[in-house]
Amino acid sequence: MRASRRVLVSGGAGFIGSHLCELLLAEGHEVLCVDNYFTGWRRNIEHLVNTPRFELMRHDVTFPLYVEVDDIFNLACPASPIHYQHDPVQTLKTSVHGAINMLGLAKRTRAKIFQASTSEVYGDPTVHPQPESYWGHVNPLGIRACYDEGKRAAETLFFDYHRQHKVRIKVARIFNTYGPRMHPNDGRVVSNFIVQALTNTDISIYGDGNQTRSFCYVTDLLDGFMKLMATGDDFIGPVNLGNPVEFTIRQLAELVIELTDSKSKLISLPLPSDDPRQRQPDITLARSALQWEPKVALRDGLKETIDYFRKLLAS
Ligand code: NAD
Ligand code: UDP
Ligand code: UDP
Repeated sequence: MRASRRVLVSGGAGFIGSHLCELLLAEGHEVLCVDNYFTGWRRNIEHLVNTPRFELMRHDVTFPLYVEVDDIFNLACPASPIHYQHDPVQTLKTSVHGAINMLGLAKRTRAKIFQASTSEVYGDPTVHPQPESYWGHVNPLGIRACYDEGKRAAETLFFDYHRQHKVRIKVARIFNTYGPRMHPNDGRVVSNFIVQALTNTDISIYGDGNQTRSFCYVTDLLDGFMKLMATGDDFIGPVNLGNPVEFTIRQLAELVIELTDSKSKLISLPLPSDDPRQRQPDITLARSALQWEPKVALRDGLKETIDYFRKLLAS
């Protein structure tokens, strides 16, 4: 096997994808970044475009793609509720048709393929924390379903391509992840609160703020991606990747205010429908199978992320 591999990253101009492209290049691989720029940003990968081993392609994964690659990371999909609900049919097409095309490509090229699945496959969970064996509690008709059910169908496709066509798959269920290069208008809680705090505008707490999330810093997540991709062909997942330290949304708001020394006030806005009450990964499997666990505390990761947004807002 060549040490340097040709790696396709779909969704490579997005928040997580851009960090992944950078890491793969640093490890000496050739990277083909495929993105339609729906929520991604050229700015995220601009510093990579002069690297000879980096190639950028504007392409929508709902259409077939014929290229020659060794590994595929399938990340293409809007991840923030406001963006995935903007065009729900396109979100479902991206998850389902995108998975079919990427799996068809993996089947033809015999590439190993990684799927960025999500904790949303557990829906509003009735089991806490969530182990991979939990089948979930998703409203199939609600406003989040285009994302949740799309990702669930994509997992089914991955497992069926594996069983039926022997495609080598790796499925990660990613829990809330944050860090530099989130879009300032991304709409997710960490970027919203930081931008609001830095501009001294009201911090928008949806509902009572007692709902919980567990926030993983992006470098920790990528370490998990690499460890999962390096496992033998018999380990396919799904495996939870996330930080098990749980916070209420109100605690997050208070921490962001403290770290930014902001004058912002907390205000309460309506809770969107089907918003999960609590979420915390059970990472027993990742610990044992990948020897992986997150290292970056929320306070430290937030400082890095705040620095990023401070520079961005000043530019
Ligand atoms: P993001 O929105 O920043 O990145 C997604 C990227 O996919 C964007 O660059 C977007 O332009 C691209 N894209 C969307 N539709 C496409 C299409 N049809 N064809 C080609 N490109 C397309 O989001 P992110 O946070 O970087 O998420 C990356 C992946 O990780 C997504 O699949 C998401 O579902 C998954 N995930 C993220 C989180 C998280 O907390 N960040 C949690 C769970 C799962
Ligand atoms: N596909 C692709 N690139 C490839 C091979 C296949 O985009 O290199 C697409 C192809 O358009 C097809 C899908 O992946 O619709 C699924 O491929 P598969 O071989 O499973 O299906 P088939 O071609 O037999 O319908
Ligand atoms: N949230 C909030 N204010 C915001 C954005 C989000 O209170 O400005 C809440 C949201 O209702 C949810 C949690 O924060 O309970 C996480 O939301 P996000 O959109 O970041 O991710 P997800 O709901 O997909 O976990």
